[in-house]
Amino acid sequence: IHVSRLLAMGEMASTLAHEINQPLSAIAHLLTGSRRLIERGREEDKPKITDALDKAAAQALRAGDVIHRMRAFVGRGDNEPTLENLPKVIEEASALALIGAKEHRVDVRYQMDPRAGAVFCDRVQIQQVLLNLIRNGIEAMYQAPKRELVISTSIDSAGDALVSVADTGTGMTDEVRDQLFQPFMTTKAEGMGVGLSISRSIIESHGGRIWAEPNKDCGTIFKFTLPLANEETPHE
Ligand code: ADP
Repeated sequence: IHVSRLLAMGEMASTLAHEINQPLSAIAHLLTGSRRLIERGREEDKPKITDALDKAAAQALRAGDVIHRMRAFVGRGDNEPTLENLPKVIEEASALALIGAKEHRVDVRYQMDPRAGAVFCDRVQIQQVLLNLIRNGIEAMYQAPKRELVISTSIDSAGDALVSVADTGTGMTDEVRDQLFQPFMTTKAEGMGVGLSISRSIIESHGGRIWAEPNKDCGTIFKFTLPLANEETPHE
């Protein structure tokens, strides 16, 4: 199930890249053409330029629509939310995310708060978020002198479960931090830049929040909240 989920993500990512690429090259093409016509400076070209710009705008909307559909798809999820044990959800996700982590000599620690036990969530989706955060954390530490990943849970002041994934990696500039959750924002040569944007859709559809803070000495802490399941929460 884990592997097929990863494959599905990979497939989705390449379909997305392809679908986005088409309107983007059309836009580039239309704009280059318009520029040429403008430089030529002929009055009779004006309607052509207007037409090309209208078409470029329509293509931009089309690209936006692809992202929108992708979000709706991810937001829908495979399963209905169920009552889940948060430490177990985290354990399973990190077992998968940490495959290969040993060879990068990453030291992983867990600090689970027993009060953050039952949550009402779509397990597959929340594990997808954890997978993204843990993988990003490990990647950020590839070249770091200290490689320590701490995954912890607690209860925040609003009484929600708070999950943190802290790394001692490169950290990030303010500019990157401001755009972290935007689709296609990546600083990686091979990156898609969709992991965090999808993660945010998932967390928000669960009624939670997700954000990043600098870690104490170096690196980054990603945090997200999930409402705790209580006696009144309906479940199957
Ligand atoms: P991708 O990993 O494909 O680039 P993401 O949406 O997961 O896409 O991340 C977007 C960007 O956020 C990354 O390219 C990286 O610059 C930054 N980032 C994410 N997690 C971390 C982290 N733990 N430490 C430093 N930078 C990070």
